[in-house]
Amino acid sequence: MKIVGVETHVCHARMRNWVFVKVLTDQDGLYGWGEATLEWHTRAVVAAIEDLAPLLVGEDPTRVEHLWQMMYRQHFWHGHGIVRSTAMSGVDLALWDILGKVTGLPCSKLWGGPVRDYVRTYCHLGGGRLEDFYETAADDARRFADLARQAVADGFTAFKSMAVPPTMALEGLKPIRAAEAAVAAMREAVGDSIDIMVDCHARPSPAMGLQFAKALEPYGLYFFEEPCWPESIEGLAAIARAVSTPIATGERMTHLAAFRDLFAAGGCAVCQLDLTHCGGFTEAKRIAALAEAYRIALAPHNPQGPVSTAASLEFGFSQPSYVICETVHNDVPWRQDVVSEGFVVEKEGRIVRPNQRPGLGIEINEAEVRKHPFQQEIPQRVFYSDGSVGDW
Ligand SMILES: [Mg+2]
Repeated sequence: MKIVGVETHVCHARMRNWVFVKVLTDQDGLYGWGEATLEWHTRAVVAAIEDLAPLLVGEDPTRVEHLWQMMYRQHFWHGHGIVRSTAMSGVDLALWDILGKVTGLPCSKLWGGPVRDYVRTYCHLGGGRLEDFYETAADDARRFADLARQAVADGFTAFKSMAVPPTMALEGLKPIRAAEAAVAAMREAVGDSIDIMVDCHARPSPAMGLQFAKALEPYGLYFFEEPCWPESIEGLAAIARAVSTPIATGERMTHLAAFRDLFAAGGCAVCQLDLTHCGGFTEAKRIAALAEAYRIALAPHNPQGPVSTAASLEFGFSQPSYVICETVHNDVPWRQDVVSEGFVVEKEGRIVRPNQRPGLGIEINEAEVRKHPFQQEIPQRVFYSDGSVGDW
């Protein structure tokens, strides 16, 4: 069996262009789907996949680790820059999809699963609708409470919010109080049996992240995400030591050694590896094994498209330390039109039972994808009050 082509299918989904990767084989009807979505870098990723294709065409698609090694180590430059690691991840997911189809097994079964009866999912406030999740002002506590109630009404037992506003490297009490009021309003709205997460988007400096973490500690967050730049492992570790709230990070890390440094420093209690950025399933399995040694929970980052979600779920059914899967369901109204899924989301509790189909268990509707061709992503920019550049 041989790989005969690697295609990319770009689908514009408002904030992101979903980059679906299709690896074709010389066997009739046998191909695999992956995803390599990297917002604001769509054309670069598509081109990077083109650059990888000569390493793949003519090779046996079932030698997944061998092909991963080629993609990562050949061409001289190791494949851990974000563009190439995303491109590689998309191909790697598609190769495992092919292997699942060849063996007739869901991916999770290839790795000894399922290890659980269901995977729990959580949503973004507003279900991933750009305006609700990213643009609700941190000082609008009432809106946070309304969106929190809506998430619970939609069946979720856990949700994530962006209740921490952008701050300069040092600011006073006002943003801290705003975040505190927003989280207090959400807790008041949904009670103690619902899990609330706050994502700082790595906006704060370590000093500000520590203040936010301390202020929000009494509200019992399920986890507190990216409280400072991921490059500042010492900052993450200092915040993690200072509060009982579990610190989550890892969505921007692209290779095993980066996770090794993070874990060894005590930088997180929750590892948010992203299957579409971290090197695909092949590298994710190594990262998960390393996390296991530290008893660090896995909660993959997954705000992307439907192949990414299927991959995150398959991974969850194979990993004992996996606790919850990030999902979006309301980013575009036609989300379900582009995919047929092998798993079912139970509305009550938003849990997912194991996929029974081979591989990732999905089929992408290419005709639907073609209805949403590439468009430049909506710009998201942050400036502080003095006009200097902030982090989105
Ligand atoms: Mg995040």
